[in-house]
Amino acid sequence: MESGWMEKSINLIDTDILIIGTGIAGLSAALKASGAGKRVVVVSKAAVGKVTNTSLGGGLFTFATDTFPVEAHLKKTMESGRMINNPVMVEHMVNLAPSRVRNLIEMGLKGQFHETGFRCRTSGYLGGPHLSSVLVNACRKAEMEFFEHIMVTDLLVDSDECRGAVGFHKQSGKIIGFRSNAVLLATGGAGAIYAHTDNAPGATGDGYALMLEAGLELIDMEFVQFYPTAYAGTGRARMMLPAAFADLSPILNRLGEDVKEKYQIKDKPVAVVSRDRLSRALFKEIRMGNGMDGALQLDLRETDFGSIPNGPAMVKTFKKRLAFDKKPVSVGPTCHHTMGGVATDEAGRTDLKGLFAAGEVVGGTHGANRMGGNAYCEALVLGDAAARSALAHRPNAKHPTDFKTLAENAVKKKIRFFDSRSETTPAIDSPRKKLAAIMWEKVGIVREEKSLTEAVEEIDAVLESIELNKGRTPGGLCKIIESRNAALTGRAIAVSALKRTESRGSHWRDDFPHEVENWLQHIHVQMSEGVPQIRRIIPIPVRPLKVCR
Ligand SMILES: Cc1cc2nc3c(=O)[nH]c(=O)nc-3n(C[C@H](O)[C@H](O)[C@H](O)COP(=O)(O)OP(=O)(O)OC[C@H]3O[C@@H](n4cnc5c(N)ncnc54)[C@H](O)[C@@H]3O)c2cc1C
Repeated sequence: MESGWMEKSINLIDTDILIIGTGIAGLSAALKASGAGKRVVVVSKAAVGKVTNTSLGGGLFTFATDTFPVEAHLKKTMESGRMINNPVMVEHMVNLAPSRVRNLIEMGLKGQFHETGFRCRTSGYLGGPHLSSVLVNACRKAEMEFFEHIMVTDLLVDSDECRGAVGFHKQSGKIIGFRSNAVLLATGGAGAIYAHTDNAPGATGDGYALMLEAGLELIDMEFVQFYPTAYAGTGRARMMLPAAFADLSPILNRLGEDVKEKYQIKDKPVAVVSRDRLSRALFKEIRMGNGMDGALQLDLRETDFGSIPNGPAMVKTFKKRLAFDKKPVSVGPTCHHTMGGVATDEAGRTDLKGLFAAGEVVGGTHGANRMGGNAYCEALVLGDAAARSALAHRPNAKHPTDFKTLAENAVKKKIRFFDSRSETTPAIDSPRKKLAAIMWEKVGIVREEKSLTEAVEEIDAVLESIELNKGRTPGGLCKIIESRNAALTGRAIAVSALKRTESRGSHWRDDFPHEVENWLQHIHVQMSEGVPQIRRIIPIPVRPLKVCR
């Protein structure tokens, strides 16, 4: 890599709609935006549709059916979210999800309907890869252009309007400024900032950091969902196991005690109905030293999988990977989903003109906890709506700053992280690991004032140490920027969790173990003095819920 690569000229691309992200939110938005006679450009950090949470997902869609009325879907979603959900967004999702999923089925999505929706899959147990390939194939046939392996580093804002974004190719280092009439952010969540996660490695909270740096507020960041039983055989709990596994065997600690029995967790399926309690129980057992190599054990050697729905498919998918017929499986809790994010309306509009958002990067629909199968539906419905809004957006005709200058200014700020002559590869792995450990131990499943306060200070120290890093290659630079995004997102989560002095949904405070009615409020964070800080706390609007019939 030549010296001064980042000072070289920026390649400019002009487009009508720029979509950042190729998970279900980005690709469904791209499909809606294509064919309207506008230029649609789609950018992703990896190959199109690859290394996304969408492609790792189980394939479950929850929506109203003949036996599960739309009112029931709405009620359950609000109950899971502990009534802190944005009711307009929930209504929008429950009303539109059935038709949006049917569109996907018409496009070739395979699977089975069930009482509360649809599970997509082909032969294996997991439906995510199939879902991604259906979306990618449809997009490849439609009118749009893809830019793969592009790390978007900044949204470009001029006189209160988003005018595009800038990023670079992770291998070649080519810098691209995307000048666009509308930008649609679909960058997913931030599970990968935790030491244990089943998320894609690129889920480093880039979208939250991009929006914070563009001046936007994020809401509900304290609500992070953990899943109790992930395969932890490698020392890290990273592969979510089917919920049924947790019901099929005791979950044993080092002393031979069944954790479900010890904590009186009985309602089945425990990994769904008692997801948070079971996650806490497993976390506490491991923290007390009652784990084995940092995990608990599930003994499935004698299990008859034939008696459970999808048993043969489960066996096919997991037996080879886990060898569960030969030895007990190590399990532990893992970070699964980020409920908070940027606030949008039901049309996917953010507070910044020209910027739209959809998918896991958006906060509001899921409230304090997400009901299983709602993430895909929410991303589908909001992706579609945000694309319509982006198509309809009319940007200001004149801006004070020329676009190239805007892009160059953004690149100049990132140059501090790059030096092609630097002798060493970036030592960024160490702050990233430190951050992951802080998030897991102090901002994770079990939280309290003391550890959260320490966490905020420690995250600030991590942010400072990141500033000292310099990448020698575009790949090295990408790692540094991802780490900084992760730390900014982690701080947004930590300060919000510290502020919320109650326990609600996925947010558990050992020092405030009850839900408090006065806390039916959204915590907003915004950038201030270079870091995310609490901006304001706003009571949720009280209004009757509506559904369409
Ligand atoms: C193991 C697992 C199982 C799940 N199972 C289900 C399920 O069965 N049903 C359900 O409803 N939900 C499920 N979920 C949740 C669901 O998968 C996600 O919430 C959803 O797929 C998120 O979609 P998305 O499009 O918002 O983001 P993602 O699918 O994560 O896509 C994010 C995209 O943004 C791109 N990106 C990010 N940062 C940048 C950047 N800086 N520059 C350029 N591109 C960038 C990435 O490359 C990627 O293309 C599951 C999640 C996991 C982890």
